[in-house]
Amino acid sequence: MAIVDIEVGLDEEEIALRDTVHRFAKEVMRPAGEALDKLEDPNDVTAEGSPFWEVHARYAELGLDSLDPTNPELDPMKGARMRAMVAEELGWGDSGLAISIGAGGFPRMLSRLSGMPNLIEQFGAPDNTDVGCWAITEPDHGSDMLFIDEETFGGAAAKPNCIARRDGDDYVIQGQKAAWVSNGSIAKAAALFCAVANNGKLEGGGIFLVPCSLPGVSHGKALDKIGQRALNQGEVYFDDVRVPAENLVVGPDMYEFMTETVLTGANAGMGVTFIGLARAALEHAVEYAKERVQGGVPIIEHQSVKARLFKMFTQVEAARSLSRRVSLYNGTQQPPLLQYSIASKVFSTNTAFEVASDALQIFGGNGLSREYPIEKLLRDARAAMIEDGCNEVLSLLGAEHL
Ligand SMILES: Cc1cc2nc3c(=O)[nH]c(=O)nc-3n(C[C@H](O)[C@H](O)[C@H](O)COP(=O)(O)OP(=O)(O)OC[C@H]3O[C@@H](n4cnc5c(N)ncnc54)[C@H](O)[C@@H]3O)c2cc1C
Repeated sequence: MAIVDIEVGLDEEEIALRDTVHRFAKEVMRPAGEALDKLEDPNDVTAEGSPFWEVHARYAELGLDSLDPTNPELDPMKGARMRAMVAEELGWGDSGLAISIGAGGFPRMLSRLSGMPNLIEQFGAPDNTDVGCWAITEPDHGSDMLFIDEETFGGAAAKPNCIARRDGDDYVIQGQKAAWVSNGSIAKAAALFCAVANNGKLEGGGIFLVPCSLPGVSHGKALDKIGQRALNQGEVYFDDVRVPAENLVVGPDMYEFMTETVLTGANAGMGVTFIGLARAALEHAVEYAKERVQGGVPIIEHQSVKARLFKMFTQVEAARSLSRRVSLYNGTQQPPLLQYSIASKVFSTNTAFEVASDALQIFGGNGLSREYPIEKLLRDARAAMIEDGCNEVLSLLGAEHL
C-alpha cells in the first residue's frame, strides 16, 4: 500500500506504538465493530459477553494511560504526536468504538485536571478502567450547549433539563441528560456539565464528577441510530442525587473557560480520529479498484476512477496534515486555540464523509451491499458531522474567534 504516514522525525518508540495500535485496530476493533454494527437491537451491543467489552479490556492492556497529558515524564510534543497517531489508528479500526474509548476516559481526565487527590483516587487511578461518559447535551439543549455564555444556564430564558442545587456541604442533582450521551446507558461515572443553583437562583454552569453507582442515578436504553452503531448512546437520569461539594470540579466562574477548553480538546480529537475513517475508506477503494475487473480491465485502469482515487488521496492527506498539526499545537501550546480544533473537526469529518461516499461510488453496486465495508463507513462518517457539535454550528462558533 503506497499510502503511508509522512510524518517526519518519528523515533523508534513512536513507530512501534503506532504499529501496535494499528494491529489492535485491525485484529480486535475491526471485527468487533463489524459484528456490533450488524446487531439489530442496540442494547445487545453492550450485553454481557459482547465483543464491545473485549475491545475495552484489550485497549486497557495496551497501557496507553502513560500518554496522558498530565504524565510529567512525557515529552509534551512527543505525547501530543503519539496521541494523534493513536486516535487515527483507532478511528481506522472502528470510529464508534474509538469514540466510546475516548468518551469513556472523560471522568478520568477531568479528575486529573482537577488536581484533587481524592477525586484522582476515585476516578483517575491508572488501574481504573471503568467506562465513563461526558454528559453535556440535554433533551432541550444540543448545539446551544457549545455557545456558552452567561445566558446558557444563568439567564432568565434558561430552561435547563438538569440542575445541581447547593444543599449545605453537598449538591443535589435533579434532571436528565440527552439520549445522545456516548456510553450513557453503561457509564460507571459521569463528567456532568449542568446548571448550578444556589438559594433558588441559577448561577451558571458547573462540571461535576458523579459516580453512577450513587442512589438516584439511572440510565436510559441504548439509542438505535444510523452509524457508529458500536457506540452506545443513552440518557443519564438524576433523581435527587447527592454529591459532596468537592465533586464540583469547575464552578460557574470558570465554566465557560473550561467548557471551551474541553471542546477544544474534543474537537481536535474528532479531527484525528475521523482521518482514520477517511484513510480506511480510501484504502478499501484503492484495493477494490485494483481487483475489480469490469469490461476486461481492472477498474483502476479507467481514467475517471484513477482521478477520483487521487482526489480522495489528496483530500485525506490535506485533512490529515491539518488535524495532526492542530493536535500538536493545541496539545503543547498555551492557550490552545478553539478555532483550529473546530477547523480540524469540521474539515476532517466532512472529508471522511466525502471520501467514504466516493469510495462507495467506486465499489458500484457492491458499495451499497452490507457484504462490503463501505456503506458502514459512510454511515459512521455521517454521524460524525453532528457528533461533538453540528459542523455548521461549530463553524459559526469558530468564526467568532477569527
Ligand atoms: C454520535 C454522537 C455522539 C454524541 N456524543 C455525545 C456525548 O458524548 N455527550 C453529549 O452530551 N452529547 C453527545 N452528542 C450530542 C451532540 O453533541 C448533539 O447531537 C449536537 O451538539 C447537536 O445537538 P442536537 O442534536 O440537539 O441538534 P440541534 O441543536 O437541535 O440542531 C438541529 C439543527 O439546527 C441547527 N442549529 C441549531 N442551532 C443553530 C444555530 N444557533 N445556528 C444555526 N443553526 C443551528 C443545527 O445545525 C442542526 O442542523 C452526540 C451526538 C452524536 C450524533
